[in-house]
Amino acid sequence: MNAVLTPPAPRRAIRELPDELISQIAAGEVVERPASVVRELVDNALDAGATQITVRLLAGGVRLIAVEDNGIGIVREELPMALKRHATSKIRNLHELESVGSFGFRGEALAAINAIADCVVASRAVDATGAFALDGQSGELRPVARAVGTTVEVKELFFSTPARRKFLKTDATELAHCLEAVRRPALARPDVGFALWHEGRLVQQWRAQPASAIANGMAAFDQRLSDVLGAEFVERSVTLDGRSVSDNAPSDRRDNRHPVRVSGRVGIPDAARARGDQQFCYVNGRFVRDKVLTHAVRSAYEDVLHGHRQPVYVLYIEIDPTRVDVNVHPTKIEVRFRDSREVHQAVRHAVQDALAKPRAGATLAPAAGLPPALNPLDNGTFDASSRFWTQPAMRFGSATSPHRVSDFEALWPVRRVDGAATASGVESDAEGLPSPESNGSAVALATGNAMAPRQNAADTGAVGVPLPAGDWPLGRALAQLQGVYILAENAQGLVIVDMHAAHERIVYERLKAQLGAQQDGAALPSQPLLIPATFSATAIEQATAEEHAEPLRTLGLEITPLSASTLAVRAVPSTLAQGDATALARSVLAELAQHDASTVVQRARDEILSTMACHGAVRANRRLTLEEMNALLRQMEETERSDQCNHGRPTWRQVTIRELDNLFMRGR
Ligand code: ADP
Ligand code: MG
Repeated sequence: MNAVLTPPAPRRAIRELPDELISQIAAGEVVERPASVVRELVDNALDAGATQITVRLLAGGVRLIAVEDNGIGIVREELPMALKRHATSKIRNLHELESVGSFGFRGEALAAINAIADCVVASRAVDATGAFALDGQSGELRPVARAVGTTVEVKELFFSTPARRKFLKTDATELAHCLEAVRRPALARPDVGFALWHEGRLVQQWRAQPASAIANGMAAFDQRLSDVLGAEFVERSVTLDGRSVSDNAPSDRRDNRHPVRVSGRVGIPDAARARGDQQFCYVNGRFVRDKVLTHAVRSAYEDVLHGHRQPVYVLYIEIDPTRVDVNVHPTKIEVRFRDSREVHQAVRHAVQDALAKPRAGATLAPAAGLPPALNPLDNGTFDASSRFWTQPAMRFGSATSPHRVSDFEALWPVRRVDGAATASGVESDAEGLPSPESNGSAVALATGNAMAPRQNAADTGAVGVPLPAGDWPLGRALAQLQGVYILAENAQGLVIVDMHAAHERIVYERLKAQLGAQQDGAALPSQPLLIPATFSATAIEQATAEEHAEPLRTLGLEITPLSASTLAVRAVPSTLAQGDATALARSVLAELAQHDASTVVQRARDEILSTMACHGAVRANRRLTLEEMNALLRQMEETERSDQCNHGRPTWRQVTIRELDNLFMRGR
């Protein structure tokens, strides 16, 4: 992560903006509540290059807001200018407005605040011999004693406008908003220390990360994110660091001239919350609320997030300042991108990529032993909603395993009839299973498992060697529970896998990959059925099969009428060849019937593939051999997004030894 931490600009004089520039500026400084004042004053401190910012409040900020910084300060002669409307040191002309890098640029905040409250600005400029305080009401300037930096004190907000004061909420609510106004910049600036006091009590304090950590990038941000949002946020999120260029640009022009850099952390789907209160987006260091960004992130989670859950994330977008207009909203919380498509794509891809990497695909150092439990079970209750069952965000790497136990196909041993597979129903068809010959090696895998393992003759992988439990992120299979779950053992302890959900995701990702990037003519590889599967079809099914013959072909299906009331499935996607062809055909026809033939595969592609995957995935209550279970685990480790099923539910959970020990009150 390396959101740019811009060094402070050299000192410039405060001057009144020229009239033609004033007319260009989004008008109206908005001071709604104490938090608006806090935000403006903290912005000013950051613009002044402060490394320590202390905010003191009384009565939720209504009685007093004092923001103290150690920035470059304001020289005595310019103090009165600082309180003047449209007077700023940050821009001089239109050109500078268009590429502004500071938070402020309108020269309005201090003037607006001074108009609705008692203001005192005390400052000592770098190199100045003394400090001076300016009383905003009287205009009196007097010497004071203080170190280099500035303190702005704002007393009795809205004292002269009781109507507005009435709109303020309780002190506690206003305090919460002020805290948020400090949290936002704090998340983007780990190099700056922040402290917030209320009624003489230290409410929050985040220490500045040392320069060495900042140079390291990542570590400093992680520490700050952890300080502000909690350790769990970092534990349950993945880093993202992607530089993107507009996909529209011709390839020879993708020269990073207009790069959009997206870094930060995005929560794993499991960390999503009911409320969107942990969603932070920064554009060039400025906290923004932006529909393009929110939508881009949301769409990246589309495939992995369940229902209305809100993802958690902190995203830093860096973009050439001339490609984003910050001058669109009085409070500067909104921005306008010159090319919002470019930004949307960059963000979506970066987040998607980060989420796609299967966290289980990590190589866990076998020597690492048992990591400390992420979430020790401290209350002794066994509650599915508690943090006991959390899925740890394992570090991922590009680990493709060298010891491949078995291929994916081992899950679905193909019964060959004259070279073609039949489309037999998978869940009930015991004959479809490999012959129960065991070469003995499987027994070594089945520690303490009474279930007779059946060895797939075609499976000639490394099964002969007993697997050390620590070698595989998802471990080695031990048993199947209730026909629904696979139990496996890894270095951390117990892994529980929802086998249907996991397999469904694997099949879905495989279908998506096969269909590719929706190029013209691309189709799922199809396999003809030796004996067509026939079924009595409704009139709608008949019509859909006829009308959508082409989309069906794209999906690897050939469905033709056999009689007035019967359809025949003549070919199915090869990936799903072992499924129930009739059930597959019926549900795809049902999906297609809802769409317009010409656009259906483009628009509803993923939905249809997801439906198909469900048919192709192993059913509950199907007995799996240990080899099949291991094959599924290995496949999960290699499949993108395999931590969630197609409906966004988790596919596996880790229960650590520590958690088990806690459960049994076994002291360690
Ligand atoms: P803006 O930030 O848009 O320039 P403000 O009204 O917030 O307008 O501030 C006016 C000017 O006062 C700034 O341009 C800056 O030169 C000076 N100023 C305000 N706060 C500080 C501070 N904390 N440290 C140094 N200079 C400051
Ligand atoms: Mg300002």
